[in-house]
Amino acid sequence: MLQIALIAHDRKKEEMVNFTIAYEHVLKPHKLYATGTTGARIMEHTSLNVHRFMSGPLGGDQQIGALVAQNEMDLIIFLRDPLMAQPHEPDIIALLRLCDVQGIPVATNIATAELLIKALERGDFAWRELVHKYKPGIDA
Ligand code: PGA
Repeated sequence: MLQIALIAHDRKKEEMVNFTIAYEHVLKPHKLYATGTTGARIMEHTSLNVHRFMSGPLGGDQQIGALVAQNEMDLIIFLRDPLMAQPHEPDIIALLRLCDVQGIPVATNIATAELLIKALERGDFAWRELVHKYKPGIDA
């Protein structure tokens, strides 16, 4: 079981809902996290159980970032709106930076999201199970 985060900016939420409907069977066995509103929308339209953090602008991206910093998040699907300024832009940059620090696969658009979810379905994320197994304590 992997830990997967789902985040979508407002104008990308419908796309995220359609994505989670289409790949519900792939996502189902994993532990899912999301920012507040994204998580609510996903649970409204699918049978997926999603742990909801705060809404993105109120700190949800940072909460997900904290798990990334501890190398506990395995995949991030973050459908960003490239045409709208976000009040929490610094949080978004910080989250993406932490993904680069830990080398965590992160999709910021639907095309990459599709590729990563197919990789997940195929078992290409098995290496992350090993990371969890051998991960040193958070003090290391
Ligand atoms: P939301 O947060 O899911 O609570 O809308 C996402 C965002 O806008 O960063």
